Amino acid sequence: MTDPLDRELAAGLCPSALPIDDAVQPHGCLIAFDHDWQGVSLVSANLYRFFGLLPSEALGRPPEDVLGADIAMALATALTRGAPGMTIRPGRRDASGQGETDSPPLYVSAHMTGQHVILEAEPLAEESHELPGIGCAWGARLARASSVNELHAQLLRALYALTGFDSCTLEHGGHSLPQGNEGTRSEPFPSAADGCVNPSLMLVDGQAEPIELLAVPGPLPDLSPCPLCQPSPALHAWLCSRWARAALILELCETLPDRSLVICRNRQPRHLAPPLRQLLQQLVQLAALRGALLREKQETQHRYRLLHERNTKLQWLAYTDPLTQVANRHRIEQVLEAELALASRNGSPLALLLFDVDHFKPINDTHGHEVGDRVLHRVAQEVQSQLRGSDHLGRWGGEEFVAVIPGCDLAQAQELAWRLCQTLAQCRIDPVVCVTASFGVAVHRPGDTSRKLVQRADLAMYRAKRAGRACVRTQENDE
Ligand code: GH3
Ligand code: MG
Ligand code: MG
Repeated sequence: MTDPLDRELAAGLCPSALPIDDAVQPHGCLIAFDHDWQGVSLVSANLYRFFGLLPSEALGRPPEDVLGADIAMALATALTRGAPGMTIRPGRRDASGQGETDSPPLYVSAHMTGQHVILEAEPLAEESHELPGIGCAWGARLARASSVNELHAQLLRALYALTGFDSCTLEHGGHSLPQGNEGTRSEPFPSAADGCVNPSLMLVDGQAEPIELLAVPGPLPDLSPCPLCQPSPALHAWLCSRWARAALILELCETLPDRSLVICRNRQPRHLAPPLRQLLQQLVQLAALRGALLREKQETQHRYRLLHERNTKLQWLAYTDPLTQVANRHRIEQVLEAELALASRNGSPLALLLFDVDHFKPINDTHGHEVGDRVLHRVAQEVQSQLRGSDHLGRWGGEEFVAVIPGCDLAQAQELAWRLCQTLAQCRIDPVVCVTASFGVAVHRPGDTSRKLVQRADLAMYRAKRAGRACVRTQENDE
């Protein structure tokens, strides 16, 4: 039921004031001043309960007449400094309407909207000096969260602990998430189209009768950002369907369509004082910032991984012969230079095998280039399979290959070359009956260059060709 005094005030004592469509919750009182802070343009009908003044005595009057000169001055200063509000103790007239009596403290939030300054007054049961410390502790936990999931879990834990409400959940993009103790319901949260745009709402008792607002004729302030306002019918119905009489709704992420809301619900009426709500709002904002940072970090890591993968692929393409899948000429030359430098510095042996497929032209001529390509690929793979991880195989050009074998002297290299020669001779590459290769072997000598080393291997390989092919020859002492 509406306070009978409020009804009386609205109906009889204030005939020049117009009731407007909006209404406020009965636990607080709303006063709007015009933008010059000159006169009251709108009040909630329960003004008397909070300030001991009838709406008819307040509408059109300057702030000091309604709030008292000291409070009006302090609020104007606080507003100029950007403070969200302050605690006041308004003086009230006693029953005879003469002197002033002490009244309980009120927390007055002040904000500007368009042409108006709006004050929302709510009772402040007691001021908690512990709030800043508690807020810092939860803030530090949020700031340490290393993933978005952990962040949301910490935020909900903070909200449970600080509100004492039955349920705290996150609603993402209009769908309920099964977090907190809510099970897995998925009824959509009312959308902005249903009028649920207020990003910070405190519903104290969904069953309490709302208080009407009375305004002097003229432009009306936008009351949508006022936490005291009644929730929209759609949100009201949504909360009722979930047995929630009290609710606190805060916006976590303002970017559509990822709009996320934190919704705390309680089965019993409950009022959270504005300083606590401000703290919760700050924690939610901190979580939103941390979440944005974590998402950016995730995205950067993802982009870095992609870049790394692409670089690896590019490098592979730059170093690999596409037909045989072994190192290309450019890469094997680089490797040879590097191994030669190492062998020169360490005095360790280094061998080079140069081999050329025998009578390859007739294979192409008889079976076609495609078969020739398959033979080259298979030859490379067969040889590769016989080499160690520290050895390097590359295509020198055409049907000619080079193997760089670190730590191998001439005798060992010769033995390896014979083994490779036999492996190739035994392998069947349909429809080619037999594939062989001729091998030239050279080893590193002091003062060698890569050109000289390759040249000696090349001369040895030609001796193998002249010796009838499918065999191995080594460098000679006088070369
Ligand atoms: P030899 O035993 O003396 O080495 O005789 P050969 O027939 O193997 O040597 P020759 O130099 O006469 O012929 C090499 C052939 O290899 C000629 C060329 O068309 C062919 N060839 C070079 N590169 C490729 C390739 O990528 N694919 C194919 N299918 N053939 C290639
Ligand atoms: Mg050949
Ligand atoms: Mg050749």
